[in-house]
Parts: sequence; structure tokens; C-alpha cells
Amino acid sequence: MSDGEELDVVVVGAGCAGLACAYELASNGLTVAVCERGDVAGAKNLTGGRLYLEPLKDLCGDLLEGAPFERTVVSESIVLTHGDASTSIRLDHGVGEDRPHSVTVLRGKFDQFLADRAGEKEAFVMGEQRVDELIREDGKVAGVMVGGEEVRAKVVVAADGALSFLAVEAGLRKSREPRCFGVGVKELIKLDASVIEERFNVAPGQGAARMYLGDVTDGLPGGGFLYTNRDSISIGVVVQMDELEQRGEEDTFNDLINRFKERPDVAPLIQGYETVEYGAHLIPEGGFDAIPELGIPGLFLVGDAAGLVLNTGNLLRGMDLAMASGVIAARSIIEFREGDPGCPECLQHYKNSLTNSFVIEEMRAHRKAPKILSNERIYKVYPPAVVDMLRSLFEVDEKGEGVPVKRAVKEMRRTVGTWAAMRDIMRILKL
Ligand SMILES: Cc1cc2nc3c(=O)[nH]c(=O)nc-3n(C[C@H](O)[C@H](O)[C@H](O)COP(=O)(O)OP(=O)(O)OC[C@H]3O[C@@H](n4cnc5c(N)ncnc54)[C@H](O)[C@@H]3O)c2cc1C
Repeated sequence: MSDGEELDVVVVGAGCAGLACAYELASNGLTVAVCERGDVAGAKNLTGGRLYLEPLKDLCGDLLEGAPFERTVVSESIVLTHGDASTSIRLDHGVGEDRPHSVTVLRGKFDQFLADRAGEKEAFVMGEQRVDELIREDGKVAGVMVGGEEVRAKVVVAADGALSFLAVEAGLRKSREPRCFGVGVKELIKLDASVIEERFNVAPGQGAARMYLGDVTDGLPGGGFLYTNRDSISIGVVVQMDELEQRGEEDTFNDLINRFKERPDVAPLIQGYETVEYGAHLIPEGGFDAIPELGIPGLFLVGDAAGLVLNTGNLLRGMDLAMASGVIAARSIIEFREGDPGCPECLQHYKNSLTNSFVIEEMRAHRKAPKILSNERIYKVYPPAVVDMLRSLFEVDEKGEGVPVKRAVKEMRRTVGTWAAMRDIMRILKL
């Protein structure tokens, strides 16, 4: 490849965006190489772990057949925490395993599966290939430099994740804007499958997802998550990066996740666990208004590199958007295969296709989410107010008196401030 031989496409990054893109390209007979800086696909990737399947049904075709899904999410809860107490809303989907709505995945296994699938279609997926530079020629990108070697291609797909070095080098993004990022820390803890099923009241193959809001983030905008896998649990905390930086305490993250695991409503669920993985990773959470230009001629941005992550508080979606954008980019390149897929028209085709897809439609529909979710009252005021109100309703004092509902609600309204709450509710309804 360094002797001037030109590939159709070089994909940078073997995450779910890059591998879905490579699979689609190679399935259509294009020559594709995927350069991954880690030893193998998935080695450097981290996610909470919940993949929404419905949006990918038409786009991904047979790619996900036989994928190593951990469990189908059938039970989900939003938990509001305050001190040792908590309250939750739970939904049991009642969805059969034949039509899972969402599943949990472990990226090590899942990305390796995607890499194998792309390999079956004759894409070259290569580990330990860190891309250091873009090659530019005649006003467009013409390949990449890997360890001093040229890899020439008609198109480069930047699927290199949240900090996308290629997007920065192409002048499409600044290197680091803390207000556009969340930062997540996650632990993978081992537990027997039967123990998970008993503690979460789910059948084999079925699983639970829990989102935690309140003092799990110690007042920082963000939340905690817990997803069940086959014989492990993914547990972690996500917070806004600029707020974390302002706090400036080095151990904040460790403290948060340790306190989270020690909560009385969490500790019994994970009792007897063994930590097998621990990591932190950035999440582009700037939303629709932080999406950069999606490329320059010969270079397409997909997945996290293009800022395609949606956090609405109850949903955190990046993987389905990453895979969809990878496939949509591939289809534009395929459309122009007979001509020059590095031309500005091909890039425009990708931009239009992505804009007309659920990816950008969803991002646009939730464009106010980052601002709404930076409201600290969501984390500091409402969870304690709701927990305290419920506690007062379920307690009887030494005089034998309980609190009438009217008084409990009045007290909660006083704590949250009626008009401030009204304003917040109106904003949240716009999500
Ligand atoms: C804590 C946490 C929880 C999350 N929870 C969820 C969830 O439950 N559901 C969900 O849908 N999303 C979730 N997300 C978001 C989701 O993980 C990402 O949106 C998704 O992984 C993006 O995929 P990607 O392929 O674009 O990028 P990545 O998966 O980050 O892949 C990028 C790849 O590029 C490689 N790379 C980078 N630079 C180079 C280079 N110079 N040369 C070669 N290779 C390079 C990296 O090693 C990596 O393999 C979560 C994220 C975090 C951090």
C-alpha cells in the first residue's frame, strides 16, 4: 500500500462507526483498510453498554446477525437519590427475546465481532496502526500517514472517536472544548449469571438498565448508570467535563464511583463482585449545535468524531448514531464509486443523507438538551425534594401522626419554588 497503490477507502478507527462503515463498503466490493491504534478492535473503547437496535434494522442489514449481545433490556428504572434514600420509577417492557428493543454489549467482544464481520467481506482491519497525519493533494485529502508510511485512498473516513485528531487536523474542530464533552468512568464487575438474574428479577438472557440522578454525582450535572451483562455488570458515572474541571479535585471520579457502589440501594446488587475492568472516556455531549462541518473533500467524519451523541438524561445514545453515520457515509461513497468519491459533491451527498436521516433529525429534535441538562436544580433540588416528600408520606412520628398528602406536597413546593419548578418543567417538556 505504500508503493503508490491506492485503496478506495481508509477508515481510521475500529470502533462501531468505523467498522459498520467498513463492512458496508467491503460488502459492496470496495477496497477498504481500517487502521486502529489499539492492538485489536475494541481494545481502547469504552461505553456504558446499551445499544438501541430498532434504528439500525434497515441500515445495518445482516451485519448484526449473531452479534454477541449480552442481555436484552426488559426492565429499566430511573432512580432519584438523596443521601442513603432513593425512589425509583420502573418500567418492565414485557418485550420477548425475539424482538429486543435494546441490548447490552461489551465493546471488547462487540467490536471484535464487527471487525470479524468486516474481515469476512475482505476489509483489512489492522491493529497497532496509529494514524499520525493526513495526506493532502490537489485541495483534497488523499490518504493518511501511519508510522511514517503513506496509505493512499480516494477517501478517508475519520471514525477516530470523541477527540478526533483527524477532525482537528482538518480544521473542522478545535482540539479541546470542555463544555462540549462529558466524561464517563466505568467499572466492569464480574458476577455469576444466576446471581444477576436473581438480584434483578430477570430471566436468563434478559437484563436491567438503571439510571441514577441526584447526589450520585455530588451536585455535578450528570448521572450514574448500571447495566446487566451476561455474567458481569457495567456500572459508572458520567458528568459534564467543564464542571468537573472547575471542581479541580483529582480524586473526584474515584470518589464518585466508590460512593455509588457503596449506596445502600446499589451495594446489595453487586455484593461479592470482582472488578475486571476500569476506565474513563470522553463523550461528545455538545449536541446538535456542536456538530462540526462533516468533512472536507476526501475526508468524512462519522460517529463521535462528528459529535454524534445524544444525551437526554433518560437516554444516552452514541453507538447507534455512530453505526448509522458510518453506513450512511459508506453509501455516499458507494454512490460515487464510478467517479471520484473524494469530490465535494460526494461529501455533500453524505451531508444531505445524514441530515435527512434519524441521526441528525434526533440531534436537532433534542438540540436544547445540553442546556436543559446543565441546570443544576435537576441534580441538587428535585431528587432530594421528591425523596423527602415520599419519606414524609411513609413515616409516622412519635405522636402517632403521619403527614397528610396536602402538607407534604406544600412542603415540596416550598422547597423547589413553585415558579422555578414550573419554568424547569416547561423547559424539560421541550426536550
Ligand atoms: C461511560 C460511557 C457510557 C456510554 N454509554 C453509552 C450507552 O449506553 N449507549 C450508547 O449508545 N452510547 C454510549 N456511550 C457513547 C458511545 O460509547 C460512543 O458514542 C461510541 O462508542 C462512538 O463510537 P465511535 O466508533 O464513533 O468511536 P469509538 O468507539 O471511540 O472508536 C474510535 C476508535 O478510533 C481509534 N483511534 C483514535 N485515534 C486513532 C488514530 N489516530 N489512529 C488509529 N485509530 C485511532 C480508537 O482507538 C477507537 O478504537 C457511552 C460512552 C461512555 C464514555
